[in-house]
Amino acid sequence: MSSTDSSDPKSISAAAKHRANQATYYAAHREERRVAEAVYRATHREELRIRNAVYYAAHRGERRAASTAYYVAHREQSHETQAAYRLAHREEIRAASAVYRAAHGEEQRTASRAHYMAHRGEYQARAANWLAAHPGQRREFVHRRRARLRSQFAARVDIMAIYERDKGYCHICGKKVKRSAASMDHLLPISRGGVHAPWNVALSHRHCNTRRGAYGIAQMRLAIA
Ligand SMILES: [Zn+2]
Repeated sequence: MSSTDSSDPKSISAAAKHRANQATYYAAHREERRVAEAVYRATHREELRIRNAVYYAAHRGERRAASTAYYVAHREQSHETQAAYRLAHREEIRAASAVYRAAHGEEQRTASRAHYMAHRGEYQARAANWLAAHPGQRREFVHRRRARLRSQFAARVDIMAIYERDKGYCHICGKKVKRSAASMDHLLPISRGGVHAPWNVALSHRHCNTRRGAYGIAQMRLAIA
């Protein structure tokens, strides 16, 4: 039996002593070590990035399984943490996703179109449920979609807020509008480059609005005068 054999009681106690010394040393130099590590990380950033990437690529499956398990076990916490993070880094996230979208816009569109086509039934059912639960919002939905398809600016416009602002009078015929017949008229029609936003809409009767079509308000006023 040699003196370096690990089953030798003398070498076991030597190893234990060594470990104890190490622990004491680490505890005494914790701050130093932290600084040294930070310096190392800062000066070897690229190397570390590559090393991490290689490690992650090699352990992708494990890593994903572990994070899924963690997420499932800590779902509530994860949501809170994420919400807090998003709130604290709002501007950064916005900037980063704009950069990402610019670089991957086409990919994203293709992927989401494919996802939509594969789950069309579910999407349509969900949309129908939503519209049934929010009756007044269908027109708003249509306006915004139309503006979006024309790549125009579209803001959320609440028809009841417009009703209050315009004191319940139709801007086309000048008569009182019942809430149930309220409609939003685009002053500069969307088809002619107008935007869907509070400052480009006015309260009108649904039938006045339909009659006016895509003519400007000036033309309509002439027509009814
Ligand atoms: Zn009217």
